[in-house]
Amino acid sequence: MSNERIPQLKDYSEASLTRAFAALEAEARSAAATLLSSEAVENFRLAWLGRKQGLLNEVSSLWLKSAPAEAKKILGQRFNALKATVESLLDSALGAGPSDASLAAEAIDITLPGTRRLTGAEHPITRTLNELTSIFAALGYSVGVGPEVETDFYNFESMNFPPGHPARDTQDTLVIANQDRRPLRDRLLLRTHTSPVQMRTMESQPPPVRIIIPGKVHRNDAADATHSPIFHQVEGLCVDTNITFSDLKGTLDHAMKALFGSAVKTRFFPSFFPFTEPSADVQISCPFCGGKGCRKCKHSGWIELLGCGMVDPAVFAFAAEKQPAYDPKKISGFAFGMGVERIAMMKYGVSEIGKFYSGDMRFLEMFA
Ligand SMILES: [Zn+2]
Repeated sequence: MSNERIPQLKDYSEASLTRAFAALEAEARSAAATLLSSEAVENFRLAWLGRKQGLLNEVSSLWLKSAPAEAKKILGQRFNALKATVESLLDSALGAGPSDASLAAEAIDITLPGTRRLTGAEHPITRTLNELTSIFAALGYSVGVGPEVETDFYNFESMNFPPGHPARDTQDTLVIANQDRRPLRDRLLLRTHTSPVQMRTMESQPPPVRIIIPGKVHRNDAADATHSPIFHQVEGLCVDTNITFSDLKGTLDHAMKALFGSAVKTRFFPSFFPFTEPSADVQISCPFCGGKGCRKCKHSGWIELLGCGMVDPAVFAFAAEKQPAYDPKKISGFAFGMGVERIAMMKYGVSEIGKFYSGDMRFLEMFA
């Protein structure tokens, strides 16, 4: 019996056997590498391991049976190693998968803790802004926004702070540098209140207007326990025919009850703001002691929380330059504004405004 694929063994030396078996193993490996169909796999099995025509069977007949007795042992070992290699090639081709050893090397410990991802949560300032916005949204208000870098005209002049008016001094303003050549009304500054959005809204639409303006404002204030150079305001504006001070009182009384609970009372005191006339400060009964007097309300039972008033006719006159329907003889309105940090500090019992901006996770996690 002879097979042209099986070379004649010239001798039984180590080198000769190594060469002969290596040639067969290489042939088996290259044949196994091309097995793409189950039919090809079966042909490979028959060609190498088949009982009658299989190549290994013939190797056994040609080499082993004719070998001298002293070479049989080493030939047998080589033959068994080749057979094991061919069988494992067949197993891989059949999809038997990787060996236990390779699986163990790749193993991952599924009992180890995974990578912990922190779930985001609303910042207490954002939460308070959203809460205020939704209270007024329920009253039919829409949200107005405007730029934080504002012109002198919108921030001051159109809000009835004429140039040189002492009320400007109450808002320590951060101005943009190198604008001395521009007319005063065009000079840029960081808005000191959200009020300029009142004018921008009125210029862009005729009455009626009901907007709530949440936003960031800037003042040249030194930071301390209750002041920050950057803080947030919520401003409101309502303009229509026959809007009265009673509407203002009712609206704010409702909003404060929605924020702090239905037991809270409000009271209004005369005040001054350039853009409203008459103007008022609003106090709420202390939500901590129910009005009996405590440290938080300085034992007065009341806490001052926001400013408001009826829109000054001079403000409507500025709006009427672009929207003639803002004729103060035909329409009226009210405006109000409040500091969001102050409300958040009261609602959540925070005593230092800086906590809101510190990024301290121990603080922020209390709101998660
Ligand atoms: Zn109190």
